[in-house]
Amino acid sequence: MTSTAASPLTPTFPSKLPQVGTTIFSVMSALAAEHDAVNLGQGFPDFECDPALVDAVTQAMKAGHNQYPPMPGIPALREAVASKIEATYGRKYCANAEITITSGATQAILTAILAIVHAGDEVIVLDPCYDSYAPNIELAGGIVVRVPLTPGTFRPDFSLIGGAISPRTRALIINSPHNPSATVWSAEDMLALQELLAPTNILLISDEVYEHMVFDGAEHQSTARFPGLAARAFVVSSFGKTFHVTGWKVGTVAAPAYLTAEFRKVHQFNVFTVNTPMQYGLAEYLKEPAPYLQLPAFYQAKRDLFREGLEGSRLKLLPNTGSYFQCVDTTNVSDLNESDFCQWLVREVGVAAIPLSAFYGDGFNQGVVRFCFAKKDETLHEAIRRLKKL
Ligand code: PMP
Repeated sequence: MTSTAASPLTPTFPSKLPQVGTTIFSVMSALAAEHDAVNLGQGFPDFECDPALVDAVTQAMKAGHNQYPPMPGIPALREAVASKIEATYGRKYCANAEITITSGATQAILTAILAIVHAGDEVIVLDPCYDSYAPNIELAGGIVVRVPLTPGTFRPDFSLIGGAISPRTRALIINSPHNPSATVWSAEDMLALQELLAPTNILLISDEVYEHMVFDGAEHQSTARFPGLAARAFVVSSFGKTFHVTGWKVGTVAAPAYLTAEFRKVHQFNVFTVNTPMQYGLAEYLKEPAPYLQLPAFYQAKRDLFREGLEGSRLKLLPNTGSYFQCVDTTNVSDLNESDFCQWLVREVGVAAIPLSAFYGDGFNQGVVRFCFAKKDETLHEAIRRLKKL
């Protein structure tokens, strides 16, 4: 590996992110490849997307849609997204002034944070949380305020969240369905949040990239459904998750015009535009709602296959009500901490997982690791075969 230490000729400077190293996802994926392990670590499908989507993008390229699109995204895609949100969650966003196409949810979240967080502003995140939130806040000069979800159940504790609010709180970031815990916020949770935030000026970033992975007949409680939340929120989603194309990096942000205007001020100098043929292809593909309407059943079947396969093993399954992740309690199998357990598992058993401690600011260890079941059935069967030996 090439050393990243500065040579004597390179001027040094204080790191913007001194605590940050290579993410656990890259580390585990590299280990998985090295040990020929089944990679249930990083969250991406190992199967192909719908060929019709690839055809739609190919058509767009052949039709000459290969130059810069409009800064906020092509109108056809923004209109398709606005219609989808209205049909799904009953809220009408103006395609022109309230929907922006982004380079994945990752850029959407960073851009929203850069647009609203001033130096010294506090932003509340709920631990465990997706690993980009805290560095994004720090890059904006903000202060990360971590509030734990309830250990064991991962439920939000609104009195704890309320207790963390200060006059300097600029924003709160929520994520349902939740990575990594695979829990989902109920309508009551959203109403409680709406009530908590009502007397405040706190903005909300609602990370809903797994919006179409809610199971057992339940509905996704999008922030868009709750007027008091939607009025203060950037609602973020990702086509990568919904259409099995994580490498395309195309996402969306829906936010009231006032927030969108500020978002776009940053967006135009941060990416300016998002690649054109993908946008045309996605706009065409969205004409048919079946692919995203069928997604819950598609992933529920994979969840059930994986859970049933591990039933009776010494790994204890935690509930999954949404997302494509399955958490397991490893304490019946080993005393190792989560990180060491994952290293051991990939080497000795040949299955890659992610330690939950990677999603906590303080590396909190509860003997729980996360598997991703967005995999071909045969991949899941092979992982089950190996894990059953434990
Ligand atoms: N938020 C969460 C909770 C995620 O799990 C992910 C992807 N792993 C993202 C955001 C990033 O999505 P994208 O690939 O569209 O940037």
